[in-house]
Amino acid sequence: MSATGESSPAIAADLVLRGARELVTMSAPPAEGLGAIAGGALAAKDGVIVWVGREAELPQAVDLAPDGLDIDAEGRCVLPGFVDAHTHVPFAGSRAAEYGERLAGVSYGEILARGGGINVTVGATRQASEEELARLARLRYDSMLRYGTTTAEVKSGYGLTAADEAKQLRAAATAHPLRRELTFLGAHIVPPEYAGRADEYVGLVCDEMIPACAPLAHWCDVFCDEGAFTVAQARRVLLAGRAAGLGLRIHADELARSGGSMLAAELGCASADHLIHVTWEEIAAMKAAGVVAVMLPGTSYTLGVGFAPARAFLQAGLTIALASDFNPGSCNCENLQLMISLACQGMKLTPDEALYAATVGGAAALRRDDVGSLAVGKRCDFSVLVAESRTELPYHFGVNLVGDVVLGGRVVVHDGVVTHCAPAPEPVPPFARDAAVAAGGAA
Ligand SMILES: [Zn+2]
Repeated sequence: MSATGESSPAIAADLVLRGARELVTMSAPPAEGLGAIAGGALAAKDGVIVWVGREAELPQAVDLAPDGLDIDAEGRCVLPGFVDAHTHVPFAGSRAAEYGERLAGVSYGEILARGGGINVTVGATRQASEEELARLARLRYDSMLRYGTTTAEVKSGYGLTAADEAKQLRAAATAHPLRRELTFLGAHIVPPEYAGRADEYVGLVCDEMIPACAPLAHWCDVFCDEGAFTVAQARRVLLAGRAAGLGLRIHADELARSGGSMLAAELGCASADHLIHVTWEEIAAMKAAGVVAVMLPGTSYTLGVGFAPARAFLQAGLTIALASDFNPGSCNCENLQLMISLACQGMKLTPDEALYAATVGGAAALRRDDVGSLAVGKRCDFSVLVAESRTELPYHFGVNLVGDVVLGGRVVVHDGVVTHCAPAPEPVPPFARDAAVAAGGAA
């Protein structure tokens, strides 16, 4: 069934995938067809891909261990696992009532003024135990897996004290197979108890929260926008994050043209996210600094505001990523398939551009070269769609087109049902990636 291998030494594997109508490797850009292989197959060992090619060549090339996993895609399309580079998973409480009020015409400003909005989430998250936050996070991680996300960035930002931010980050790191990159977002908003004293709060973020949270995170983020933090305040936070060994990312220019994208270029942030209000000058600066532009169309959809100018970013040669922004206020959705569809409709991306942004683009935003594509040496993370072609994803929208998910060479979703039973936690690695970015060596 596998290798004949009498003469040429075959590659040892403990997993093979065969029977794919198309294996979309993402090893080529959208203009070159995403490296899709008709009748493609792959093999992996110990969770890492060891061979990719045409199924016809598989028996000669690969020697599957007798107890290895032999997966038949049954004529369906296979994609790399999605890389969701922007989520706010560990929170408590629901803001469903507020959603209805906003649709009925009550402004977010009014809701916020009476203590609603994000304050509701901050209050509920502070009240929740670490165990409860971890339980909620695991449910959401399961949902992400079911929709084909295998790597996700996960932010804190609803604790807003050193202890509560650390609690959120520990909860986000709960044992679960989903690959995660954790981000400290203590500078999300100014909490109510610091109203009118934003600079003082920034001091707390830099002097107490970052020292407490840096050992628990990979990244430092800040919400630099109208009503949140100024460029000067954001710079202070990010420099303190960098000094503590964290990589840098930023929420920029979502609500207004706030200068966040220029700050991203100045500091060489790995990504600037949202970017609805940017000009060519800022796009050029981000391009020169190697900043990845993270697009969050689900937020534009929920808030009823414009979409980011993704085509302008592509025209300027920027790398774009497509992420969910999963959060309780402006985008309560962990489904990256829907974001791909929204990006096609709202940002005029082609289906292949959107798929590339949700895989290779997400990996670039997280400065990871081990996920987002299917090639030798990469993690064995892929989805088998319940569709023959990748173009079905944006076209057949609003439903889950992922049938099976393999993460690190293990089946974690089968026929739409989460099957993982043993977690595969990964330690927080020492952070060296942002140094390369600062030196101008960005992807
Ligand atoms: Zn966000």
